[in-house]
Amino acid sequence: MRKRICKYCGWDMDDPDLEVLEFMHSECWKQYRSHNEVYPMPKYA
Ligand SMILES: [Zn+2]
Repeated sequence: MRKRICKYCGWDMDDPDLEVLEFMHSECWKQYRSHNEVYPMPKYA
């Protein structure tokens, strides 16, 4: 299965560890929002 990679930080978007996801992508999530882009929700959320 292909991994989805965050286009802002390059980290795996489906990391099973939510704390890692939040740590890695908290700024990215703001970027997605500020660009009116839908953040692809992590499978494990
Ligand atoms: Zn990211």
